[in-house]
Amino acid sequence: MFRFLRILACTLLSVAGMAQAADKYSIIPEPERTELKPQTTKTLKLLSDKAEASLGKDAYRLAVTPGGVHLASGGREGRLYGQATLRQLQDQLAAQPEGIPCGVIKDKPRYSWRGLMVDPARHFIPLADLKKFADLMAYYKFNKLQLHLTDDQGWRLPVPGYPRLKSVASKRAESFGNRTPHEGMYTREELKELVAYCAERGIEVIPEIDLPGHNQALAAAYPEFFCFPDPGTKVRTTGGVSLHLVCPHKPEIWKFYSAVFDALKDIFPSKIVHLGGDEAPLEKTWEKCPLSVKYRQKKGMKDVHEELKEFEGKMASMLAARGKRPQLWYEKPWAEAGIYRKGDTVFTWRMGLTPSTITETKKQGLPLIIAAGEHCYLDYPQIPGQDNRGWMPTTTLEQSYKLDPAYGRPEKETDHIIGVQATMWAEQLPTLNHLLYRTYPRAMAIAEAGWTPMNVRSWDNFRRKVADHRAFVLKRFNYDLERTKENEPPFK
Ligand SMILES: [Zn+2]
Repeated sequence: MFRFLRILACTLLSVAGMAQAADKYSIIPEPERTELKPQTTKTLKLLSDKAEASLGKDAYRLAVTPGGVHLASGGREGRLYGQATLRQLQDQLAAQPEGIPCGVIKDKPRYSWRGLMVDPARHFIPLADLKKFADLMAYYKFNKLQLHLTDDQGWRLPVPGYPRLKSVASKRAESFGNRTPHEGMYTREELKELVAYCAERGIEVIPEIDLPGHNQALAAAYPEFFCFPDPGTKVRTTGGVSLHLVCPHKPEIWKFYSAVFDALKDIFPSKIVHLGGDEAPLEKTWEKCPLSVKYRQKKGMKDVHEELKEFEGKMASMLAARGKRPQLWYEKPWAEAGIYRKGDTVFTWRMGLTPSTITETKKQGLPLIIAAGEHCYLDYPQIPGQDNRGWMPTTTLEQSYKLDPAYGRPEKETDHIIGVQATMWAEQLPTLNHLLYRTYPRAMAIAEAGWTPMNVRSWDNFRRKVADHRAFVLKRFNYDLERTKENEPPFK
């Protein structure tokens, strides 16, 4: 119907002697600068594709002329982004064959980090599904994919010498009482294939090994790594925060994490390993562990945070020995206890705390990535009335779109912010279909927040583009972006 009206409108405009084709581009994320010309084109043939280093490595310029397109790019990233824009223009022309405007697009990202995090620990995501996920990411110029490989509910990274990770930690009896067993483990080769596949599309894969907490699956396989070993421990089947923190005073764990980091070095070329560090209830674990109590007394440590600082420092050194550095989920009490080292990149995520975290991390010299719960937690429902599992707040597309990573503050207060990341925690997202359902279209809003300067962003324009993209994505990826209150896949 809308398409018919649009054709009708164009016809009427043409009768009035005006342009009959589309009068705007539908590019997401919105380019930094777009200059439209009065002519239109019906061909987007690539006429030239040249390097122009002066543009900067992640910048490109696309000139759309009546005869075709000229692409100039400053480096490999810029070329990939220019190609991504061209792909969207081609999809727009296919949907609006009456023509699209000529013009010049000069573009580069506002932030260097534009990430999505997926959670195969809670529900395993097969390699083929991760590839499809990456295809869509590249279409929207995301450049970081964080794999949350370990958690209470499952361990998905193979580590040579530790067979019980696969035979025990990668399997659980059920999920939230559904009486359906769930399991999954990547092979080294599959992960390498994913890394290569993503690299071709300009996406860096960052592995996450959550520690010291979120480790109940590990505890089921290797109870001896923990303060209070319990051979009856099972891989967790519900959500919530578990009390399974590895014990820093068991020599076995240092051998284990050494093997884990070797495995990561072998598979992931990224210089970054995300070490989690969130939701670790020290007061119920290390605080009471006899080995910890004795150690703190011996070393004259005033509290368990000093012990944690030493633990995190040792982990960072082990990574450094392998040419890597950690990233962490920001926890205010940890920051106050001086656990982060200057230069550690942290993520702000807790609801409502991002404005204060921006201030604190600036003072502490910590590069910051914005994953603010109220905009970026895309596992939450997106339309009021959709299943919220009894607790999740609704985060609408508009709410995600409202994110300004700098929170309206001046450059001098926010120059430590390196980008944005959305998180798809997967306790409630068992399939690719469900994962994509909650990720999109909100991820398109996060993509624009990370890419586009505020002065060229507009909710009304974005909404128009999202409507156009439904046809683009359906045709190119065979995936429907339509979202109604009723059309979400059912929870199992
Ligand atoms: Zn202990």
